[in-house]
Amino acid sequence: VSDLAGRQVTVAGLGVSGVPAARALRGLGASVTVVNGSDGEPQRAQAAELEPLGITVRLGDGEALPEGTELIVTTPGWKPTSPLFLAAAEAGVPIWGDVELAWRLRGADAPPWLAVTGTNGKTTTVRMLAAILEAAGLRTAAVGNIGVSLLDIVLGDEPYDVLAVELSSYQLHWAPSLRAHSGAVLNLAPDHLDWHGSMAAYAADKGRIYEGNQVACVYNVADPATEDLVRAADVEEGCRAIGFTLGTPGPSQLGVVEDILVDRAFVANREKQAQELAEVSDVNPPAPHNIANALAAAALARAFGVPPRAVRDGLRAFRPDPHRVEHVADVGGVAYVDDSKATNTHAAEASLGAYEHIVWIAGGLAKGATFDELVLTAAKRLRGVVLIGADRALIGEALARHATDVPVVDLDRTDTGAMAAAVREAARLARPGDTVLMAPACASMDMFTNYNKRGDAFAAAVHDLASGRVPDD
Ligand code: ADP
Repeated sequence: VSDLAGRQVTVAGLGVSGVPAARALRGLGASVTVVNGSDGEPQRAQAAELEPLGITVRLGDGEALPEGTELIVTTPGWKPTSPLFLAAAEAGVPIWGDVELAWRLRGADAPPWLAVTGTNGKTTTVRMLAAILEAAGLRTAAVGNIGVSLLDIVLGDEPYDVLAVELSSYQLHWAPSLRAHSGAVLNLAPDHLDWHGSMAAYAADKGRIYEGNQVACVYNVADPATEDLVRAADVEEGCRAIGFTLGTPGPSQLGVVEDILVDRAFVANREKQAQELAEVSDVNPPAPHNIANALAAAALARAFGVPPRAVRDGLRAFRPDPHRVEHVADVGGVAYVDDSKATNTHAAEASLGAYEHIVWIAGGLAKGATFDELVLTAAKRLRGVVLIGADRALIGEALARHATDVPVVDLDRTDTGAMAAAVREAARLARPGDTVLMAPACASMDMFTNYNKRGDAFAAAVHDLASGRVPDD
């Protein structure tokens, strides 16, 4: 894409995707201005990194469209309704995300993309997929929203046979020309509605992952909205709709029969009804939502021609990332589980469903969610609840409506030390055999830099509890 040379490009936002985008664009000879609303220490440090490359950085000024802008490349945090984008629309300036940029910059012999989106399970599924592709002897990487910039991969020298790509709804929103080999929408539940504006808009952005697919559109049989998105998509001729289900699979589906993951979609031998892939116990951990993730990963891998044995070997080799239903310690007969990655109600519902008697630590930034349904399904399992974070009252009100006999401790705190206090309160509520589950159903940014830090704070507090230390908070 030599035609970016000499073009005036504005990058909206710094951070993990803005900085590599600015660098890449500058490297292609574009004249680059980065705008960023906030002007703090970290932003100044990033600006100091970029300015010596001849990049203009404007801090504390994210609304006005810089003179002469011909293209905007945006980072995910920016809402479509941002004044900058409204100004761009008015001026007829196109807006691309980092994924769109990477897609356009990829070389002629670039590896195909196997793409994954969904409200929950993306990272897990992409890691499983990469493990399966690796087990098949393919050169691959887990990239995208997972924390590895697609731009770095596309512009780097490392050769790949195929990429396992995690895409967020934001990235899909700004990636109109992306055309994956095959794509999967794992599930659809309300999330990020404040960004997208409505559930319909959120679903439509997720559905873009199917646009132009060449081989397979993978959907969740238990979540008909995902199949609707396949039907709405414009795909290449011969591209198939492939379902995954925790039940017995129909034709063109992958599913589970007597604790065996089976494939009825890509059966090479026409004599055979189904191809056995792996045992349920090969999935780590073998919880229902995770088996669904494994089936989705298997479907994409099979669409790429990976043999059954590699599916099994890859699933066996897969290890979950931290903060995803992670057992931290047992203290006094109580299990402490870190599901900090449960940043929305749909994810929290999956982990709350996995335990009998729970003391639930919840709260944070709700992002426009409501909690009635979650509280209703979990109420019977709750021994008690400890609420923290900015939007804790929303959960408190739902508990008051649907779980009147569950004791609730409202910590009324949003400082970092609140997590240690929450763990101590939870320990008081719990009885031996119970699980203290930190699955906040909310984002973490009101109290922490990210969900990792929130999970680390929980784990540290649990270790303090185990050793009898009481930290200052
Ligand atoms: P994502 O990358 O989409 O955020 P992760 O794999 O990091 O997904 O998991 C996020 C959270 O969702 C975790 O708390 C996990 O326990 C839960 N989760 C994982 N897979 C699923 C699924 N298929 N359905 C519901 N919840 C899930």
